[in-house]
Amino acid sequence: MSGNPYPLGLRLARRRVVVVGGGAVATRRVPALLDAGADVLLVSPELTPALRAHVDAGRLRWEPRRFAPADLDGAWLVQVAVDDRVAAAAVSAAAAERRIFCVRADDRAAATAWTPAVTRHGPVTVAVLGGGDPHRAMAVRDAVRDLLNVRTGLAPAGGTAAGPAGSPGGGPAATGPEAAPGSGGRAPVAAGAARGGGVPGRVALVGAGPGDPELITVKGWRLLTEADVVVADRLVPGLLLDELRPDVELVDASKIPYGPSRAQEEINRILVERALAGKFVVRLKGGDPYVFGRGGEELLACAEAGVPVTVVPGVTSSIAVPAVAGIPVTHRAVAHEFTVVSGHVAPDSPASLVNWEALAALRGTLVILMGLKNLAAITATLVRHGKDPATPAAVVQEGTTGAQRSLRSTLDAVAADVAAAGLRPPAIVVIGDVVGALDV
Ligand code: SAH
Repeated sequence: MSGNPYPLGLRLARRRVVVVGGGAVATRRVPALLDAGADVLLVSPELTPALRAHVDAGRLRWEPRRFAPADLDGAWLVQVAVDDRVAAAAVSAAAAERRIFCVRADDRAAATAWTPAVTRHGPVTVAVLGGGDPHRAMAVRDAVRDLLNVRTGLAPAGGTAAGPAGSPGGGPAATGPEAAPGSGGRAPVAAGAARGGGVPGRVALVGAGPGDPELITVKGWRLLTEADVVVADRLVPGLLLDELRPDVELVDASKIPYGPSRAQEEINRILVERALAGKFVVRLKGGDPYVFGRGGEELLACAEAGVPVTVVPGVTSSIAVPAVAGIPVTHRAVAHEFTVVSGHVAPDSPASLVNWEALAALRGTLVILMGLKNLAAITATLVRHGKDPATPAAVVQEGTTGAQRSLRSTLDAVAADVAAAGLRPPAIVVIGDVVGALDV
């Protein structure tokens, strides 16, 4: 195909976009489509766990079968994410017939639209097409991202990922584009390519934050851009994965409640094996790696195998999610303590490690993670042990994301209110007088 591409920003809100294929490519592409508000129809006999999580949460529609041309009726755009060239060509043909633009992961020459390398900075989206070379597009995108980060004081502090290097920004000097070349000799992010063979690998346990992709730390983001392998959880913001280089191996370690789960040992094995093969592995975990995240087990497995580990703390949902719902976990003259507890084990279970009687006696804020399933039992237990049934309570689902929902209630009514409102995990329960402390 000749001629230069003509750049456009597609406004996809409520417009049908069809994604054909349910593998790694679709897993990477779907989050940006959802972020654009598209009405996504996914056609594929099988799905990755991450895609299934989108389906389960009602964010997109899934047709569990092979593609049929009529799937494109009413669509504005189609994204082909299958390896099978014959199947992909059939989608292309159906798209051409309907004059629908068709992105093809398997064959850019056959595509009628190309996906640019993207970096997002608040309201600004920068999209780069590399003239047929995706690596060039990535390199330019990375350079632009660094430049924009310099302007906002968030530039990576150069060099390799090792060590505690780099308080970000390095002060007020780097305020304009002119400052960039001189500011510590930063090279464009060369990533995995910089490491030669035989160099020992390592693992970084990185907290991805609670859901908003901008809530990853500067260091976590930098290590992510340098990774050879990324092992990601289900709660990790999809948009972070959207910006990975295509040569990065993305391992989906999704552990969907009550669904197919990959044993923790298998995750540990992948981390150790890839690192021993010389790779830089980023284990990306929702929130903070050590808050109900099993990060400690992964650290121990690596340590046992002699694999060096860097831990990058994350913004934990236990504090951030109440915050974005207008609830400070402490407040002057209201609460001088907050307690974070897991509600995934029922209070009367012999497996429970939580002293609910002691919690009922505390004045401060109680933040309960993974607590929806057992919420009725938990609140009844707290009341039975003397906590005031009128204590304010709040529940926040998918906090810090576009899908955030929340409700306010009281200790004795919150379980019924959650059921009535149909709130679902992931959600956080906050109990205490801080709920409402900022209401004016
Ligand atoms: N390590 C994570 C927590 C893992 S446990 C952290 O530090 O945030 C998973 C639980 O965290 C979920 O069941 C839910 O209770 C809570 N959670 C995580 N992200 C959330 C979000 N965006 N909104 C509401 N709850 C969230």
